[in-house]
Amino acid sequence: MSILLSSEFTFRILVFFYIFDIRILSMETNNKYEAVIGLEVHAQLLTRSKVFCGCSTEFGNPPNTNVCPICLGHPGVLPVLNKKAVEFTVLMGLAVNCRINEKSVLARKNYFYPDLPKGYQISQYELPICEDGLINVDSDDSLKKIRIKRIHLEEDAGKSIHDQGYETLVDLNRCGTPLMEIVSEPDLRTAKEAYSYLYKMRQIVQYLGICDGNMEEGSLRCDANISVRLKGTDKLGTKTEVKNMNSFKSVERAINHEIERQIDILEEGGEIVQETLLWNADLNEAFSMRSKEEAHDYRYFPEPDLLPVVISEEWKNEIAEQLPELPDERREKFISKYKLPEYDAEILTQTKSIADYFENVTSFTDDNKSASNWIMGDVLKVINEQKLDIRNFPVPPDKLAKLINLINKGTISGKIAKDIFPEMISEGKDAESIIKEKDLVQITDVSSIENIVEKIIESHQDEVKQFLDGKEKVLGFFVGQIMKETKGKANPKLVNELLRKKFNELKTV
Ligand SMILES: [Zn+2]
Repeated sequence: MSILLSSEFTFRILVFFYIFDIRILSMETNNKYEAVIGLEVHAQLLTRSKVFCGCSTEFGNPPNTNVCPICLGHPGVLPVLNKKAVEFTVLMGLAVNCRINEKSVLARKNYFYPDLPKGYQISQYELPICEDGLINVDSDDSLKKIRIKRIHLEEDAGKSIHDQGYETLVDLNRCGTPLMEIVSEPDLRTAKEAYSYLYKMRQIVQYLGICDGNMEEGSLRCDANISVRLKGTDKLGTKTEVKNMNSFKSVERAINHEIERQIDILEEGGEIVQETLLWNADLNEAFSMRSKEEAHDYRYFPEPDLLPVVISEEWKNEIAEQLPELPDERREKFISKYKLPEYDAEILTQTKSIADYFENVTSFTDDNKSASNWIMGDVLKVINEQKLDIRNFPVPPDKLAKLINLINKGTISGKIAKDIFPEMISEGKDAESIIKEKDLVQITDVSSIENIVEKIIESHQDEVKQFLDGKEKVLGFFVGQIMKETKGKANPKLVNELLRKKFNELKTV
């Protein structure tokens, strides 16, 4: 979660980078060609047990300890479908406007790999759980509708470990972990759109609480099918599949790289070979892995050990009731209900927990914009630096709201609030007790400030003369001196007023 937040925070910086990347591309040949991109997103579902057995899905256990005869593929064992995994898939389907099929079928996808002990993966082929969805994705300054072809449920394979000396080791803990595969139609045209699509998908699965969305740990994975064609033509070019893009940065780099590679080949009169490429983020290069398989290579057939999945209207409605407010809806609400600028709404709804935190703060203060400013600035800065989850942030929403209210009531200045905030974080104290302990209450009493103004003016006659000679800037010097004298506690607005009043008196003398 914490890594996510930090990567989310750099989102805007990354946007800048691909605008840069794309500009280079567009200068050369992008006027002639367009890319056609479809994404396959694999999301690891947050169920406690695996999809066809009772083994734990916990991450990080010793190799080959979360296993049983079923996920090890022993002969004669029978899989049992995890109901929660089906519910999560339906929830996703509903969130992205899919049709939920009343009947869907699990199918065997046959292939050999050392980390797939059964020799086949249980997936879905002809009848997936969800079909024909649609989501809005940011594209330049507008929204673009991207169609979703299907969402299906499948099991993950194990993991081959190649970097331990000369041996290849196999860890089967991940075998049978539930995965949801979301397949888009080839509606994406640029790396930037692909990025926005993936960002939206991650936001949605996180809002739904069905996947942690962590690309670095592999719980959200993405493959891209890419082809290019001459602009204005409808016929699709030969596509390649790029795999192994394990960060948002990789996705945009790898896609741009592949688009350029294909255009270069076509420009030189060559032909694109249908193949699967593995992206190497360290080398910024894609390597051919194998020629691309066709569906018939897998000999899909209905899984004989599992009944078709039947989702009744009643069950579907029950699941629909669990749908939370989704990112788009929430962003709109932040603009209309809390009167926040679009920029603030975007940042605050990037994750459900940040949006929840904001809404909790507003239930203790009416100053929505200050709440937004504090969260976007001071709170998220610490969250990102210390890689915290905002749900565990040491200053809970009510305490932040109190701090904002103390500023608005004039009890403390904004400057003092910024000064004591780090202590609220490190000591877990509330603002009021720190203010009391350190005697930081703002001086708003006119006569006390007047006395200090008089005192400072008296001891700085040279500067007074400069002011009277027309050097208005000196006023800032006096404000500084008074704030220093009062250890920052004087109300700055009052200080300015009283100083001006005093100088006007001096002028007229
Ligand atoms: Zn098992």
